[in-house]
Amino acid sequence: MNEHDSETMAGMLNEKGFAAEIDKEQADLVIINTCSVRDNADKRFFGTLGQLKKIKERNPGFVACVCGCMMQQQHVIDEVKTKYPWVDLVFGTHNIHEFPRLLDNVIGERQKIVDVWQEGGAIVEGLPVKRLYDYKALVNIMYGCNNFCTYCIVPYTRGRERSRQPEEIIREVKELTATGVKEITLLGQNVNSYGISHHEEGYWAGEGGMDFADLIYALNDVEGLERIRFMTSHPKDLSDKLIQAFKDCSKLCNAIHLPVQSGSDRVLKRMNRKYTRADYLTLIEKLRLAAPHIAITTDLIVGFPGETEEDFQDTMDLVEQVRYDSAFTFIYSIRKGTPAEDYEDQVPEEVKHQRFNRLLERINQISGEINQTYEHTIQQVLVEGISKSKKGEGLLAGRTESAKLVNFPGDQELVGQIVPVHITEGKQFNLKGIMES
Ligand code: SF4
Repeated sequence: MNEHDSETMAGMLNEKGFAAEIDKEQADLVIINTCSVRDNADKRFFGTLGQLKKIKERNPGFVACVCGCMMQQQHVIDEVKTKYPWVDLVFGTHNIHEFPRLLDNVIGERQKIVDVWQEGGAIVEGLPVKRLYDYKALVNIMYGCNNFCTYCIVPYTRGRERSRQPEEIIREVKELTATGVKEITLLGQNVNSYGISHHEEGYWAGEGGMDFADLIYALNDVEGLERIRFMTSHPKDLSDKLIQAFKDCSKLCNAIHLPVQSGSDRVLKRMNRKYTRADYLTLIEKLRLAAPHIAITTDLIVGFPGETEEDFQDTMDLVEQVRYDSAFTFIYSIRKGTPAEDYEDQVPEEVKHQRFNRLLERINQISGEINQTYEHTIQQVLVEGISKSKKGEGLLAGRTESAKLVNFPGDQELVGQIVPVHITEGKQFNLKGIMES
């Protein structure tokens, strides 16, 4: 979500005549787009902010801007104002569309501005976007979240769910494919509730309107589009209709990211996830019935307050049952302002790390085993660029439909194309292959 917001701000700056500069020492303006989902990102933000002081001292015309989820928290704004006075502009997630106007005031009037809205208003369409890639694109379909998982700050920083009008989404996707985009990723905190949650400032499917599955079916008909992905999916809202779409829609990639967070019912309840382990396993069964080779990935939190060894074993056991293609594993960290901040039974750091290592080891083993099953198959690979792997000199990197990373020798001119690749080796984190002639 933040990556796409950054593309929007880059588009706005482009319209103002700014060009991208990688080295912040050489830049006239820096924007730090913050994330508050994890503690690490918080810490990195303040570290980076400190580095801007020297640039400002050297170049008084330099403009320092900060935005994103962290700015939706008053204690962060207060800290920025008192400890980092060289920051010129602070704005939040709800008023990105105001960025050009705010910037004009900062530059023209030499004002310092803090403008953070607590609520998101109507969705603003048609903002300029400078996309990172020519062949794949992120497309927001909704904003905000209504779920209030007890560990998560997002509902407080991104507001309530608001869905875009389906016509606007379809128009955007058609425009993208007209410029050569082959793959889109539909974005939302919980895409499964697209059009279902009723918020006055957003689209509501109501009787006979389009829900998320309908939107997938509609996008499947867009000419020129080859791949549809989406993230993220909340298990409680994953409908049978959407599962059926995996069968019916040829462009919907055979992959789903379905965050489970824990395998223990007791922990799931305390997290306010609104599904049980059994509910989740039923969904996995249905998905595999509809799409037998679907790649399933997840998010897992280790060391949520009150998590016992038995709860953790339930998570390990769930991982054995589902056999995820891969997983994002997180050590629980307290997010200020969330209900779980006040839970008294926090798990000691040492225990959290020990559990995390055990979980990660098993997940990586399973990933490697699944990747080996790709050996000697032909996969359609969307070539994304030059391989970043250390041993990957001269190799291209791309993704299979199931989102597996594949490294293979090939010409750079293939970037952006979908090509058949014979998989020669399934490794723990990626696949190796040779392009079919
Ligand atoms: S569904 Fe839960 S974890 Fe996901 S953004 Fe909403 S509150 Fe956070």
